[in-house]
Amino acid sequence: MKEVAALRPRPNLVDYEGERARFDWDEARAELDGLPDGGVNIAHEAVDRHAAGERADRVALRFVRADGSTRSLTYRDLAAEIARFANVLAGLGVGRGERVYSLLGRMPMLYAAALGTLKHGAVFCPLFSAFGPEPVRQRFRIGSGRVLVTTRALYRRKVAPIRDELPSLRHVLLVDADGDPEPGTLDLAALLERAPTTAPTAPTDREDMALLHFTSGTTGRPKGAIHVHDAVAAHFATGRYALDLHPDDVYWCTADPGWVTGTSYGIIAPLVHGVTVVVDEEEMDVERWYRILGDQRVTVWYTAPTALRMLMKAGADRAAGHDLSALRFVASVGEPLNPEVVVWGRETLGLPVHDNWWQTETGGIMISNYPAMDIRPGSMGRPLPGIDAAVVARDEAGAPVVRDGEAVLCETDATGELALRPGWPSMFRGYLDEDERYRKCFAGGWYLTGDLARRDADGYFWFVGRGDDVIKSSGHLIGPFEVESCLMEHEAVAEAAVIGVPDPVAGEVVKAFVELKPGREASDELRLDLIGFARKRLGSAVAPRRLDFAASLPKTRSGKILRRLLKARELGLPEGDTSTLEAGR
Ligand code: AMP
Repeated sequence: MKEVAALRPRPNLVDYEGERARFDWDEARAELDGLPDGGVNIAHEAVDRHAAGERADRVALRFVRADGSTRSLTYRDLAAEIARFANVLAGLGVGRGERVYSLLGRMPMLYAAALGTLKHGAVFCPLFSAFGPEPVRQRFRIGSGRVLVTTRALYRRKVAPIRDELPSLRHVLLVDADGDPEPGTLDLAALLERAPTTAPTAPTDREDMALLHFTSGTTGRPKGAIHVHDAVAAHFATGRYALDLHPDDVYWCTADPGWVTGTSYGIIAPLVHGVTVVVDEEEMDVERWYRILGDQRVTVWYTAPTALRMLMKAGADRAAGHDLSALRFVASVGEPLNPEVVVWGRETLGLPVHDNWWQTETGGIMISNYPAMDIRPGSMGRPLPGIDAAVVARDEAGAPVVRDGEAVLCETDATGELALRPGWPSMFRGYLDEDERYRKCFAGGWYLTGDLARRDADGYFWFVGRGDDVIKSSGHLIGPFEVESCLMEHEAVAEAAVIGVPDPVAGEVVKAFVELKPGREASDELRLDLIGFARKRLGSAVAPRRLDFAASLPKTRSGKILRRLLKARELGLPEGDTSTLEAGR
């Protein structure tokens, strides 16, 4: 164990039971500044109040470039940048509540755009830069994106070819136009240069929409989960309890802001705490990551099981020679964390890995292993103060059991659906334009998460699996329907079914089964052509990595493809119960 342990701050959550009994969300809200008229704005809490106070000259964001050099923005600098971006939006006539999308790698402009959008009172919607044109098109259409901030290369590859299918998109702001924007786009740097470095903060109300995060279901198109400015109270409280943030921390969240973790915990929560956030501009690389942990003196690290498994696979000796003595807390989210990784952390990093659980809809961490509590390797931990979690019994068809208006809870150690009592500030307020889908997420007084779990006698929760067919690959949630729809656009394909198959590093990888049209012959060449076709449209994060041809695909009587059966066959399991297939959200 580390020699510097004695210097470590006292954990933020020592008396778990006492804090749970005492805490309420208004207390977290009261610790924030708020706006003069009683409203709340995430950008004000994350940046402006620090820029106006003692932390103004502390580094807010430190970007590590490809060559290892860094560029930093203090809270004061960041406040000026976000004000400029807000002024650009104002100059373009972008109104409150209108949606500003980003399709960017982890560069300073992404952070300024996110926070500037919130300051302006518009809604920020980040897209993962590895998405292909098809996911971009879908998400733009659903969210009626008005503005897009992107690079020239991404615009050319992913947006220009579908631009005429995006009628809501008025302004494309290129971060690297260099005085020569593409036709139909604007030079963002030129606009920013002319923009003042102060701007009014929109008087947003707690319940005003702030963020739109897309997530995938088993069926249908992606869902736009709506989050409001009040979420910042949960980002603040969970940053304290689950990530143990203290004022002097140097914090690194490896998630990309294109996904909810990278926004809630890569931008908002740490900045609200006024800490220094390290951002790696590059992709994951074992040597690079150890170097960042050591050279940047990272104290709190929030990462994902896939990344930890990659480090583990590379061998413990790769950590040697890096001074990891500053590191005091490591947490992980997004997929099941294998107990071996927890043990590996102890041996290699000198610290165990603390698993926690949440999802796009919850907006923030709900269940966690806390620094002052013993970790149960393999368990997601216990619910946060302010959060009531339970395991709801399911009937044979996979539906929640409700009696007298209340959901029936499972006995200790029995598996059911993980459920949360609604009412915490970062809970999603709806799926955009899909009220029915939203309503279906609730039963008997609980929000149903779609995950299967069990709870032990001490109140620790254990992840069992997904209750639906959604795929988790390298921590990214992938809707099988989106992939199937893409494959079916290929002229050789009659029908497609897509499942996740286990992978030792990525957790799961996407596998497609394809039934060809009459007269088409299966071949290796066609397999490669189909994978290439999907990659081009969907992007590497979503496209199938494996593909098999099938003479016919198994279906329910009503004609739905039985993905569960394919999965059971693939895993060599009994083909048994496939009934829950119909319950997908
Ligand atoms: P997303 O909405 O993309 O953040 O994905 C959320 C889903 O990831 C959850 O519903 C779970 O299925 C999975 N997940 C998140 N955290 C964990 C965890 N700690 N252990 C197991 N699965 C997790």
